[in-house]
Amino acid sequence: MTDCLFCKIINGDIPSEKVYENDKVYAFKDINPTAPVHVLLIPKVHIASVNEITSENAGCVADIYLAAKEIAKEMKIDEAGYRIVNNCNDDGGQTVFHLHFHLIGGKPLGWPPFTERI
Ligand code: AMP
Ligand code: ZN
Repeated sequence: MTDCLFCKIINGDIPSEKVYENDKVYAFKDINPTAPVHVLLIPKVHIASVNEITSENAGCVADIYLAAKEIAKEMKIDEAGYRIVNNCNDDGGQTVFHLHFHLIGGKPLGWPPFTERI
């Protein structure tokens, strides 16, 4: 998609700090990290959000989790643990509308990830 920030990162039109790539998945450092390890994993095909996942394109989610596992091992956070997060649409806090998963770790992470209770 021409007007998508993460498609432009995949194409190399916008620079990124790549940490992993295969034919289906691209992973790069988040520009505004929230933890010592904060990597974004994206499918190379444009999918706007989880709402656009179908039985035809859902394989990319498995590809992303397989890549995340390898990156966690490479970054030596696999034993200590980490979190994989997806934000969907406004209430979920999604700001870039190309499906992405945050791989976050390198320190103990609080739970729940929000401060207000219902
Ligand atoms: P989300 O709020 O879940 O949509 O996450 C979007 C993420 O993209 C945020 O954590 C941003 O810091 C990150 N981000 C935005 N622009 C860039 C960029 N050019 N390079 C790397 N990360 C980015
Ligand atoms: Zn895109």
